[in-house]
Amino acid sequence: MSIRKSGIGMTSRRTRERMVDRLLSQGIRDARVLDVMREVPRHLFVEEALASRAYEDTALPIGYGQTISQPYIVARMSELILKRGRPGKVLEVGTGSGYQTAVLAGLAQTVYTVERIETLQKKARFLLYDLKMYNIKFEHSDGGWGWEKHAPYEAIVVTAAAGQIPESLLRQLAVGGTMVIPVRQGRDQVLKRIVRTVEGCEVEDIEAVKFVPLVAGVG
Ligand code: SAH
Repeated sequence: MSIRKSGIGMTSRRTRERMVDRLLSQGIRDARVLDVMREVPRHLFVEEALASRAYEDTALPIGYGQTISQPYIVARMSELILKRGRPGKVLEVGTGSGYQTAVLAGLAQTVYTVERIETLQKKARFLLYDLKMYNIKFEHSDGGWGWEKHAPYEAIVVTAAAGQIPESLLRQLAVGGTMVIPVRQGRDQVLKRIVRTVEGCEVEDIEAVKFVPLVAGVG
């Protein structure tokens, strides 16, 4: 592939080390997350013209008005769903470039990922297959409804901002499971962590974030 030939591939390992050092300084502590992010070639998930910027701590355009999330937020969301042991089934809403999907696939047994824009979904599917990440199942649909067929999930990661926590996603979360989701609050967005309990759920505000909106229907 031309990205590798251009030399970015050769230096990207060192660049990723620097990215991981930065994540540590930003407070990411889970060694499992840091190890996976040291391995996943983030530059392959952006347009070739942006590949040299892939390891900066910034969101970058991936087409269709969507963005690949910044490394810090990918790390933070991954860390928030991890407990002791390897999660079984994880649902991701908003495949986008597939980068967060790849990180989750390195952490969980199986990742179920849903994307409403078909072209993005296909692109991510081909790339992740090329990278030999075979523990991912893809679906082109409105992920606001989750993916009922494989529920319940031990974790749900939503990578687009919702107006409120979707009931259907809560229902597909296993008891004891964790969901992370950006929710709009006025002009702002807050990343929330929700733990499903026997009686209902516990909701905790984590930090202010900036995501593209969760949109109903397929594109
Ligand atoms: N984790 C991705 C984030 C992409 S941006 C990455 O780092 O690349 C959020 C993605 O959510 C976009 O691709 C957008 O099309 C998708 N999306 C928005 N609403 C959706 C919905 N209801 N169902 C599925 N995907 C959705």
